[in-house]
Amino acid sequence: MAGINPRARKVAATVVTAGVLASLAVACTGVSHSGSDSASAKPTGSTHDFTPGAAGSGDPYFPKMGNGGYDAEHYDLSLTYNAGTKAINATAKIRANALQDLSRFDLDLRDPLKVSKVTVDGRPATYEQTGGQELVITPGSGLPKGRQFTVEIAYAGTPKPIKDKALGVSGWIPRHDGVVTLSQPTGSATWYPVNESLRDKATYDFTVTVPKGLKVLANGQPAGEQTQSATTTFRWTNPEPTASELVMIAIGHFEVRDTRTKSGLRNITAVDPKAIATTGGQTVADAANQLNRVTGDDIEWEQKLYGGFPFSSVGGIIVLAPSVGYALECQTRPVYATGRAGGLPPAFMLAHELGHQWFGDTVTPARWSDIWLNEGFATYTEWLYTEQHGGKTAQQMFDAAYRSPTTVWKGKVAKPGRDHLFDPLTYLRAGMTLHQLRRTIGDTAFFQLVKDWPKTERNGNATTAQFIAFAQHYTKKNLRPLFQKWLYTAGKPAL
Ligand SMILES: [Zn+2]
Repeated sequence: MAGINPRARKVAATVVTAGVLASLAVACTGVSHSGSDSASAKPTGSTHDFTPGAAGSGDPYFPKMGNGGYDAEHYDLSLTYNAGTKAINATAKIRANALQDLSRFDLDLRDPLKVSKVTVDGRPATYEQTGGQELVITPGSGLPKGRQFTVEIAYAGTPKPIKDKALGVSGWIPRHDGVVTLSQPTGSATWYPVNESLRDKATYDFTVTVPKGLKVLANGQPAGEQTQSATTTFRWTNPEPTASELVMIAIGHFEVRDTRTKSGLRNITAVDPKAIATTGGQTVADAANQLNRVTGDDIEWEQKLYGGFPFSSVGGIIVLAPSVGYALECQTRPVYATGRAGGLPPAFMLAHELGHQWFGDTVTPARWSDIWLNEGFATYTEWLYTEQHGGKTAQQMFDAAYRSPTTVWKGKVAKPGRDHLFDPLTYLRAGMTLHQLRRTIGDTAFFQLVKDWPKTERNGNATTAQFIAFAQHYTKKNLRPLFQKWLYTAGKPAL
């Protein structure tokens, strides 16, 4: 994410009601019962005591988001958007694996969306929507550990964005002619049932039906479109594991470009014509071409820096969305939201969001407190871009940043606190941390490290501790004092 503006509204405090079923174990079918029904299920073959999956995934900053007991592998989302009422009518088919003998499990789905039917493996399941954000599903029979299952959920309503006092607006965001979804940190549950955890990445298929004339973009690649009398259905497929915070669809009137970068990577970009100022002779078509070209050029430069692109396509979207005021590194297709019609974002800003594809997207933090691993690298990508394109050196930018006022020095980079995820701390000071790492281990080691890290952790999650241990392999110097000073100590570090 880049360029946060404060946006207001108190987040509703939500309480997950565990419900009476929490204490009940549902007997499984198809697993042999041996002896008594002891309450303590042990993995010794007597697997007939099934327990509910946890109602949260335990992230200290968002304890209620995400769920336990299963691993979602694939989401097949099918939705129809009504441009008149702004409502959706949708079905989510989710393939998952049981990680325990599961009597019951939760998905995250925020009000006001209402579920009308749930099946598990084609059989009706009971369900309850509680606490404003939890969908509790009890299958007809328990799901043994290791079992792959498919849950299908029919739901409808008019999704509402999250407006968080500290973190801004996110989720399903209505726009002048449609919608864009920007779900960092926990906005996906505003529009589909999801295991909203950084650690549960999954692949996606999207089938989105909109009034004829509107277009749909999403992560990944288009997989066909079909026009009916009054509507068009767009299919997209996103074949690489994706954290839910990076899942995106956009609906609107877009000028789309679908080309290849110099190295052959598919490059799908789009501009919302209302986001482009047509003064000074610039046309919407010019802007559409330019976004596509700069995206391609940036990606070619970044592939030299960070290694091969981790996904099968790239791109970007510029949208008019005055309530947003930031850009987000949605996987394969960053979104640059602007408050009023203007020009294109500068190339270094595109480099920031595209740099995230390696740092944040293919390697995703294990916990939200590790977000400096995203934003530090994305900020440093801006500095490297400027340095290698005839601008100021990274050292000059470090020096300027080091003279920053006290706000940058408040807090700890690797422990920012929930309300400070997007503060200058996790951007500017995190970028400075990486510059100090570069100076300490030298350019050769540093530029090898930035290629190796995303390759080693591809499609995964990583912690700050893992990064520190990884970096230590590139030098004989002890890096602990450096990281202690820059990541874990509040106040301006001495040089
Ligand atoms: Zn960012």
